[in-house]
Amino acid sequence: MKFYSTNKKSDPVSFKEAVIRGIAPDGGLFMPEKIPSLPVDFIKHISNYELKEIAFEVAKSFLSEDINDAGLQSIVNKAITFDSPVSMIDERTGILELFCGPTLAFKDFGARFMAETVSYLNRSSKEEITILVATSGDTGSAVANGFFNVDGVKVVLLYPSGKVSEIQEKQLTTMGSNITALEVDGTFDDCQRLVKTAFPDKDISGKVKLSSANSINIARLLPQSFYNFRGYAQLNEKNKPLFVSVPSGNFGNLTAGLIAKRMGLPVAKFIAAVNSNDVFLKYIKTGIFKAEPSVQTLSNAMDVGNPSNFARIMDLYGGDHQKITTDIYSAGFNDEQTKEAITDVYNNYNYVIDPHGAVGYLALQQFLNECKVSEYNSLILETAHPAKFLETVENVIGSEIEMPERLKRCLNKEKRSVKISNKFKDLKDYLLRNK
Ligand SMILES: *Cc1c(COP(=O)(O)O)cnc(C)c1O
Repeated sequence: MKFYSTNKKSDPVSFKEAVIRGIAPDGGLFMPEKIPSLPVDFIKHISNYELKEIAFEVAKSFLSEDINDAGLQSIVNKAITFDSPVSMIDERTGILELFCGPTLAFKDFGARFMAETVSYLNRSSKEEITILVATSGDTGSAVANGFFNVDGVKVVLLYPSGKVSEIQEKQLTTMGSNITALEVDGTFDDCQRLVKTAFPDKDISGKVKLSSANSINIARLLPQSFYNFRGYAQLNEKNKPLFVSVPSGNFGNLTAGLIAKRMGLPVAKFIAAVNSNDVFLKYIKTGIFKAEPSVQTLSNAMDVGNPSNFARIMDLYGGDHQKITTDIYSAGFNDEQTKEAITDVYNNYNYVIDPHGAVGYLALQQFLNECKVSEYNSLILETAHPAKFLETVENVIGSEIEMPERLKRCLNKEKRSVKISNKFKDLKDYLLRNK
């Protein structure tokens, strides 16, 4: 299958090229030429399948021409090593827990699948690839974990010194092996600038094969549709309308859900839950999209003022606002409301939800109040483990929460970083010295 650019100004490319390039030459995002339907029987009997089996079936329908069955099976087996369980908080509402991976957020699914895919596609090349990533926290650790000990790949992370949380810094700096953390004396914007300057640099590209693992990469998008199917598979009664609430920032998660729906997953409505960064909500209400500067909130992974996957959603619906609002409802909430929701969910259901999931919970409630259906199923995507936001969550619910073992282990390890200034020369020297 070929992958085309949402800008339609460059030629469609193979899957391998789409993955290695990340972004199309015309600046667009890659989309699959065709969205295949899953066999009706497969969806009918989906409860019989594990996440790995679902992942293989979905991935195969896109990639069978580019990767053979054995290759795809091996990618799935190495990447999808944990489940996405549903925890029902009442008869009609399930929390789809996407935090069971190594870094406790849903980005593990995409990052791990991409890492194994890159390693597979590069298997016959002797050249080592260096993945260069600027991170303000979560993306970097998911990418680093995904590529940890993957053959033929090195990862160099750049993060702003003193500007990520303690937990995040530990996750970034304690991995070792093929992962190096560069602690930049500067801001996240400096880190991004350094990375952007490195790619076109001729001295570097002559010696080091650089690649990125950006969240817009098609190999990170496709695996995010797997757990939409897996969530549905775990529902008891499947014949009622299903509403899926998705806490959204760059809208990759929601886009993958929309793709799953096109493939045959019976979702009646997706709910795009946003915080005070609500340009998408405004688009749903008015049909007009206008990027805005982002503002900081408690659900900080959703602090995005110009969501990159908006281009893919427009592409999926041919820009038809009415069709988009048929499939997607949207609602936005501020930090006060988010805190109240964390308390409500804790008091009413004895469930500890993180600030991102809490926004998803609020958006689902608002939708249900407006549409007044009584027979339905709903899933809230819980995108991160509450322990990642320990202070906020413990303060709000007024009691201690349990920290998963894998997070504790990482907190006990010693930080290892290489300090560099925010000057490009430092990064360049590092890359050329350590090639
Ligand atoms: C990245 C992230 C989001 C936003 O996901 P998008 O695909 O960018 O919309 C939501 N919650 C958490 C915890 C995240 O890490």
